[in-house]
Amino acid sequence: MVVDMQEAGLRQYPWWWENTALTELEAEADQALPQQVDVVVVGAGLTGLSAAVTLSSAGRSVLALDAGRPGAGASSRNGAMLGRYFKHSFGQMKEDAGLDAAIAYFRELGAIYDFAIHRIEGLGLDSGLRNCGRVVGAITPAHRDRLFREWELRSRHVGEEVKFLDRSDDLELPTERYVGGVHIIENAALHPGRYSHAYLRSAQEAGASVIGHTTVKAVTGERAGFVVSTTRGAVRTRDVLIATNGYTPRSQKWLFRRLSPIDAFMVATAPLGPGALTRLRACNRTYHDNRKSSNYFQLSDDGRLIFGGRTGLFHRSLAQMVKKMRDEIAHFFPELARVEISHAWTGRCAATDDMFPHVGSHHGVHFALGYCFSGLAMAPYLGHKAAMRILGDQEAARTLFMKDDLRQVPWLKRQSWLIPLAMQYYRMREPLRKS
Ligand SMILES: Cc1cc2nc3c(=O)[nH]c(=O)nc-3n(C[C@H](O)[C@H](O)[C@H](O)COP(=O)(O)OP(=O)(O)OC[C@H]3O[C@@H](n4cnc5c(N)ncnc54)[C@H](O)[C@@H]3O)c2cc1C
Repeated sequence: MVVDMQEAGLRQYPWWWENTALTELEAEADQALPQQVDVVVVGAGLTGLSAAVTLSSAGRSVLALDAGRPGAGASSRNGAMLGRYFKHSFGQMKEDAGLDAAIAYFRELGAIYDFAIHRIEGLGLDSGLRNCGRVVGAITPAHRDRLFREWELRSRHVGEEVKFLDRSDDLELPTERYVGGVHIIENAALHPGRYSHAYLRSAQEAGASVIGHTTVKAVTGERAGFVVSTTRGAVRTRDVLIATNGYTPRSQKWLFRRLSPIDAFMVATAPLGPGALTRLRACNRTYHDNRKSSNYFQLSDDGRLIFGGRTGLFHRSLAQMVKKMRDEIAHFFPELARVEISHAWTGRCAATDDMFPHVGSHHGVHFALGYCFSGLAMAPYLGHKAAMRILGDQEAARTLFMKDDLRQVPWLKRQSWLIPLAMQYYRMREPLRKS
C-alpha cells in the first residue's frame, strides 16, 4: 500500500454509498408534487423516514421532501455505531438533576435502543446489523478512571452489562494507545447506506411519497394548516414535521437559531491484508475513546478500516483532511502510517443548547432534531414520537425528550469560525499522547 501524496483517485463520498441503492431515488426527482397531503415531512433522513413509516402506516397521506438525495444527509455518512448514547454522562446527570432523573433518562435510552432493533427486525430492514458490542477505550489513566466510574454507575443503576478492561486484555484493546476500556456487551454496528435505504423503502411501501432534489423554502401557516413552498411548487398540508437536523436551513429561522451545526470527518482505507490489525480483527467490535474530540473506528465487511475524528475542525479540503487523518490513524496503528485512503467524506450533525436531542412543536410546526452524533437509534425514535403526536396519541408520543420551548443557542456558539477554535481547545486539553 502506497501513499499517494496528491490523494489522486480519492473518492470524496462515503464508503457506505458503494453498492447501496440510494441512487435509485434520483429517478423520482421528476415526480410531480401533490397539491395537498395530510403531512409534509421536511428532510428524508432517518428522522423523517421513520416518521413517514409511522404516519403512512396509520393511514395518513405523507410527502417526504429532501433538498438532496433522500437518505444522503448524516444518516448515510456516519460512524455506524448503534448504542444507548447522548452527550450527557450518568455521573454528571446524577449530580445536576438527581439519581432518579438520571435513571429515568438512561432507562429511556435503553428503550430507544430496543425500539431501533425492533424496527429493524419488525420491518425486516436490511441494515447490516451486527450485534458486535462496543469498546470504549481510555488513552490516559485519568480517562480510564473517569470511564470506569461512569460505567460502574450505569451498570449499578440501569443494569447495563459491561466488562472492565485493563492493559492485559490484549485482544479486546485493539491498539497500544488504549490503557484500558470498557466492553459494552449489548451494542451494535450497522451499515448506514443500507440502513437509510431500508428505511426509505419501508416508508414507500407504507405508502409515503418520498421526493428528492426539492428544497423547502418556506412554511406558512394558514387557517386550516400550512402551505409548504418548495423549489418545485407549493403543497397544502394539515401538519408539517421539520427533520433537517444539522442541515437545518436559515429559512427555518426559529429552529436555525436553536441549533449549533457541527461538521465531522471520516475516511475509509483500501482493504487491508489479512495480516493487518490482527488485534482489531480478533473481536471485531466498534471502537472509540472517551475524549471530547474522540476517534472512532471499525472494520468494514471487506476489511477496510473505517475511521472518524477531527470533529468540528476546519479543513481547507478533504484531501488536506485525509493527510491529517492518516496521522491520527498512524497514532493508533503505527503499521498503517502509509496506508492508502480510498474514500473521504464529511457529514453534519447539530447540538441544541442543552445538548439533548428534542422533539417538539413551535406554532404548530413539529420538529425532531439535535442528535449531536448519537442519532442512529435516537433519530428513528424521535421521528416516530413526532408522528405519534401528529396522530394525536399523546400517550404514545410521551418522551423525556419532548420540549416545545427550545432555548436559543447563543450567537457565538452558532458561528462556523468559532466551533473549530472550541474543538481545537478540547484537543489541546486532551491531546493524543506523543509516542
Ligand atoms: C460523521 C458522522 C458520524 C456519526 N456517527 C454516528 C454514530 O456512529 N452513531 C450514531 O448514533 N450517530 C452518529 N452520527 C449521527 C447520525 O448520523 C445523525 O444524528 C442522524 O443521521 C440524523 O438523522 P436526520 O434524519 O435527523 O438528519 P439527516 O440524515 O442529516 O437528514 C436531514 C435531511 O434534511 C434535508 N434538508 C435540509 N434542508 C432541507 C430543505 N430546506 N428542504 C428539504 N430537505 C432539506 C437534507 O438534505 C438532509 O438529507 C454521526 C453523524 C456524522 C455526521
